[in-house]
Amino acid sequence: MVSLQYPFEQSPPPGTTMEVSPGVRWLRMPLPLALDHINLYLLRDDDGWWIVDTGIGGGKTQELWEQIFANELDGLPIKAVLSTHMHPDHVGQAGWLCERFRVPFYMTRAEFYAARVMSEMPDGLSWTSEQYMRRHGTAEAHIERMRSSKMRMSSMVEPLPMAYRRLRAGQRLRIGGHDWKIMVGEGHSPEHACLYCAELGVLLSGDQVIAGITPNVSVMPTEPEANPMADWLQTLKPFGDLPEDTLVLPAHRLPFYGLRQRVSDIIEHHEDHMVALEKACQRPQLLSDLLPVLFKRELDPSQITMAQGECVAHLHLLMERGLIARELGEDGLYRFRTTDPDIADKHTSPGYQGDDSPHMV
Ligand SMILES: [Zn+2]
Repeated sequence: MVSLQYPFEQSPPPGTTMEVSPGVRWLRMPLPLALDHINLYLLRDDDGWWIVDTGIGGGKTQELWEQIFANELDGLPIKAVLSTHMHPDHVGQAGWLCERFRVPFYMTRAEFYAARVMSEMPDGLSWTSEQYMRRHGTAEAHIERMRSSKMRMSSMVEPLPMAYRRLRAGQRLRIGGHDWKIMVGEGHSPEHACLYCAELGVLLSGDQVIAGITPNVSVMPTEPEANPMADWLQTLKPFGDLPEDTLVLPAHRLPFYGLRQRVSDIIEHHEDHMVALEKACQRPQLLSDLLPVLFKRELDPSQITMAQGECVAHLHLLMERGLIARELGEDGLYRFRTTDPDIADKHTSPGYQGDDSPHMV
């Protein structure tokens, strides 16, 4: 097995940038999460800079952006803002940036509308969300916590841009004399855009491909019967066909070489999760019985929703494959049971251990 290579050992200090490929600059912004940073990128065009991803909302990120504007742009203006997807660390300052510079905002259609809707969700819990959580055996205390939660998207993003320019899979953006092709991944978010430049051999991968952590792929209460793991695995595969010497510039952790290896490791990781779940379901299981199969560490309250969502995502794909059956008991709880005639012959890969806990990206 080939391991990944990390060409840059140090990330740029806050408020500064580092050139990682001709015309491509890397910068970091802080996040108030266990994963304490996001990587953002600047692409130099002939007449200004494109910003790729924007940081979470709030004054701290804006102060750091001011330092970047003052010192790092070589006298050129900002000419466009692009967000790979709708999560607050990526889209949090998009509205602020686009207002400030009166520049266009680029995003895929599903991400733009999902961001607009999710940032305007009302307080409280819908009956559909409550039903989803109850059927999956969520503890009453956690349901109450979610009912009064203030972790809404609107508290983490500046008011979003009111208009956008649509990115589509396969489209090419001409930036700095190079073509950047839009590649779309689904499953982590609805229509996540990555930018690939064949001439530079660079992939801006967003949250799609990250070294060391797999992004959260969750069934959310807003679409309780979704099958995001199927979308995730299917749309991830083409990234494994890009050239082996592609420099991957992800939204978290360090840039790396080893894209093909990383893609096949991520796919194997999820397939292993599914084998482990199948094995655990040889007798009917509640979701709460299955969380320790995937996550080895005790989950703190902030991780429960993601852990449940990710576990359900694996179960839904197994259901679609006809390998797991789900039944709603008279007690109102779902139970999952293996229906796979070949389960005795299936094994997880050598060294598979599950995850410590779900990743907050
Ligand atoms: Zn994300």
